[in-house]
Amino acid sequence: MYCADCGAKLKNNTTFHESKKRGKYKLVTYICNTYANHGKEVCSSHSILQRIIEGLVLEDIRARAKRVIEDENSERQRYLAIKANERKQQTEDESRLLKQAESRLAELDTIISKTYEERMLGKLPEDLSARMLEKYTAEQKELTAQAEQYRKARVQEQQDEQDVEKFIQRLKKWSDAPCLTRELCLDLIEFIVVHARPEEHNAPRKVDIYYKFISKPLTDSRNLLLPQNSVEINQS
Ligand SMILES: [Zn+2]
Repeated sequence: MYCADCGAKLKNNTTFHESKKRGKYKLVTYICNTYANHGKEVCSSHSILQRIIEGLVLEDIRARAKRVIEDENSERQRYLAIKANERKQQTEDESRLLKQAESRLAELDTIISKTYEERMLGKLPEDLSARMLEKYTAEQKELTAQAEQYRKARVQEQQDEQDVEKFIQRLKKWSDAPCLTRELCLDLIEFIVVHARPEEHNAPRKVDIYYKFISKPLTDSRNLLLPQNSVEINQS
């Protein structure tokens, strides 16, 4: 769990209380580590009760599981779209473009060897054939790079499909979980970002949950805002 403002991890803070109504009791709260170490001049507490955050997370998981159970296919499409958007992938049909590139590359192979052959046989003047070869090899180089990109994108697309499938299966598995367990969290949650307590009393608390297989994991788990992590973290 991370602080939305300074990116530090939240730390567990247990306090003991006593009241007439409840007797002795314990409160588990999470607070920003920067605040805990350096005080409110550097970051605000971001304090959130364990009970509240667990409730929010469980509620979100249940809502997602419910949507999957009700209409699995549109949820699948929605998650695939989120992932495609994350990659900022062009919507063009990349396998079609890949096919085109591959067939043109095969053509170029033939053309280039023919040009060499004709030059050898003296059918083509030296300077003309040199210019042609230069042109064809430039095209070949460019297309090879493009085709490589399309291939990568296609592999990524297949990976996305597998990821979404895994996430959906796990959501189903936990759809009627009575409470948040360590196992459930490890299975489903990548990381959580807790926003500061809103100024307005009783205003809803903002918490972003990033799910496994849907959101990218943090490259450096020490702090949310490290440069490697600051690639746009989209909520999904
Ligand atoms: Zn903070």
